[in-house]
Amino acid sequence: MSTGFFKVPKAKNEPVKSYTPNSPERKLVLEQYKNMFNSYTKVSMYINGIDVQSKNSKPINPPHDHKKVVGEYYLAEKKHVKDAIESSLNAKANWESMSWENRSAIFLRAAELIAGPYRHIINAATMIGQSKTIHQAEIDAACELIDFLRFNVEYVTQMYENQPDSDSDSWNRVEYRPLEGFVYAVTPFNFTAIAANLPACMAMLGNVVVWKPSDSQIYSSKVIIDIFKEAGLPGGVINAVFGDPEMITEIVMDNSNFAGIHFTGSTNIFKTFWKKIGLNIEKYKTYPKIVGETGGKDFIVAHKSANYKEVATAIVRGAFEFQGQKCSAASRAYISKTIWNDVEKFLLEELKTISIGSPENLENFVTSVIHEASFDKIVNYIENAKKDSSCKIIAGGNADKSVGYFVEPTVILTDDPKYITMREEIFGPVITIYLFDDDKFEEALSLVDQTSEYALTGAILAKDRNVIERATKILKHSAGNFYVNDKPTGAVVGRQPFGGARGSGTNDKAGSMLNLLRWVSPRLIKETFVTPKDYRYPFLDKD
Ligand code: NAD
Repeated sequence: MSTGFFKVPKAKNEPVKSYTPNSPERKLVLEQYKNMFNSYTKVSMYINGIDVQSKNSKPINPPHDHKKVVGEYYLAEKKHVKDAIESSLNAKANWESMSWENRSAIFLRAAELIAGPYRHIINAATMIGQSKTIHQAEIDAACELIDFLRFNVEYVTQMYENQPDSDSDSWNRVEYRPLEGFVYAVTPFNFTAIAANLPACMAMLGNVVVWKPSDSQIYSSKVIIDIFKEAGLPGGVINAVFGDPEMITEIVMDNSNFAGIHFTGSTNIFKTFWKKIGLNIEKYKTYPKIVGETGGKDFIVAHKSANYKEVATAIVRGAFEFQGQKCSAASRAYISKTIWNDVEKFLLEELKTISIGSPENLENFVTSVIHEASFDKIVNYIENAKKDSSCKIIAGGNADKSVGYFVEPTVILTDDPKYITMREEIFGPVITIYLFDDDKFEEALSLVDQTSEYALTGAILAKDRNVIERATKILKHSAGNFYVNDKPTGAVVGRQPFGGARGSGTNDKAGSMLNLLRWVSPRLIKETFVTPKDYRYPFLDKD
C-alpha cells in the first residue's frame, strides 16, 4: 500500500562514451568482445522465469565472420509458445496489482545496470551479433536503451498524473489499467534498444508479455534477459520465445486473451499481422491494440543555398552508418544541380577514407550487413542499377561475402526520379541521388512526397529560410520525423519521439507518452458524495 505520492528520479539522457584510443571504456569493451567471441554461449528461451531449452537449436554466427560460431539458441515448439502465454496470464494478477513505484524501480534498476556493470557486455554482444561499430552499439544498446527505460518510467507517472477535474460533490478518477489479457512484442534485428523497449514499456504499465525477438538479434537478447532477471523482474511478466515467426504468431493470435501487438520491423510483415487480427476478430475478448513501426525510404533534399560539405556529411552519416540498416537511414537524395559538383567531389573524397571490416577493429566505420539474404538482396539492387541506362554507380558497387557480408557504401546517380532504388526500401549501404534544376525545386518536393509508400524520416538542407518554410509545408505528410539542416537519423529518446505514418507505421512515437497510452485501458471512476434520493429535477416543479 503506497502512503505517499512519489516522484521518480528526473530522467536524463545517458551521455555517450567516446571510446577514444587508450580510454578505459575502449579497453573494457574490446576485452569483453574477445572473451565472448572466443567462447560458446547457449541462449535459452525464458518462460515463467525459467531458462528453457528445446530439442532444436540454431548456431549464432557473427555477420562479419559468418563461419565462426559463437553459440546457439533454442527454437520454440508449439508447447513452448503455449507455455509462454499461460505463464504470462498466470503472472498477471500479481504483476498488475504491484504498486507502480515497485514496478518502476525494476526498470530504473535495469537502466542503471546497463549504464554500469552491463554496459560493456551489452555493447560487445551487439558488436558481435549485429555487427555494430562500438559507437553504433553504444548509442543503441547502452544509451538509447537506458533512455527508453528512464524516460518511459517518467512518462508513466506523468500519464498517471493526468486526471479529470472534479466538483466538491463528487470525485472523478482515472485508473490507467493494463490491458486485459496478454500482449505480444515482435522485435527487429537492428536495434538492441528496440528489442528491449517493446516488451519493457508495456510491462512497466502492468502488462504481461510474450516477446519474440529477431533470429538475428538473439545474442544481445540474452543480455537483455539477464538484465531483466538481475533487476528483479518477476518470472512470467516477460516471456521470450525464439524461432519460427509464423508458427509463434499463429498461436499467439489464435488465443482469445491476445490483447495487442507491439511490432517493429518490415511493412509487409506488419500488414500480415493486421489482416490476421482482422480475420480472428470474433475470437478475442477485447479489440487488440495494433502498433507497428515499419519500413522507410528516407530522404535528403539539398537546396542550392545549402553548404556542400554539410550535404555530403549528412549523406555519409545518414546513409552509411550501421551499413544503412536503420529504418531512418537516408536512401534517396534530391540535390540541386548548382551545388552538385561540389557535393560530389567532397562526398567521393570522404568515401575514399572509409574503411570496412570487423567491428573489433575500431578504425572501421562500416562493417557487414546482417545476413546472407540481406546481402543478396542489396547486391541484386546494385547489379541491376549497373545494367540500367538511367543509372550510374559513382561510388562503391562492390560486395564480398566470403568472410562476412560486406557491401561497399554505394552511391547511385539516376536521371529517373522513380527508379526502383528511389522507391523501395533496400536496408543496406546504398543511396540513390537525383539532381534537380533550381527552377524546379517545388516539383522536386512533390517527387519526394509522391515517390514511395513510406513516410518515416526526411531532411531538408538549406540556408534560405523561405525555402525551409516551403519545404516543411509541402512535405507535411512525407515524414514523421523531419529534420532541418541535419541528417535524418539519430533520434534521441526524450528529445525526438520517433515514428512515421503511411507505409512506415502507426506513428505511435516510441519513447514518448503517446506510445504508452496504447498499452492502457483507462477506467473512469466517478464517486458521488451525497447521492440523490428523489428523481425529480427543479424544472418539473409546477409554475
Ligand atoms: P523483419 O520484418 O524481417 O523482422 C521483424 C520481426 O518480425 C522479427 O522478429 C522477425 O522474426 C519477425 N517476422 C518475420 N517474418 C514474420 C512472419 N511471417 N510472421 C511473424 N513474424 C515475422 O525486419 P528486420 O529485418 O528485423 O528489421 C528491419 C525492418 O524493420 C526494416 O523494414 C526497418 O525499416 C524496420 N524498422 C523500423 C523501425 C521504425 O521505428 N519504423 C525501427 C527499426 C526497424
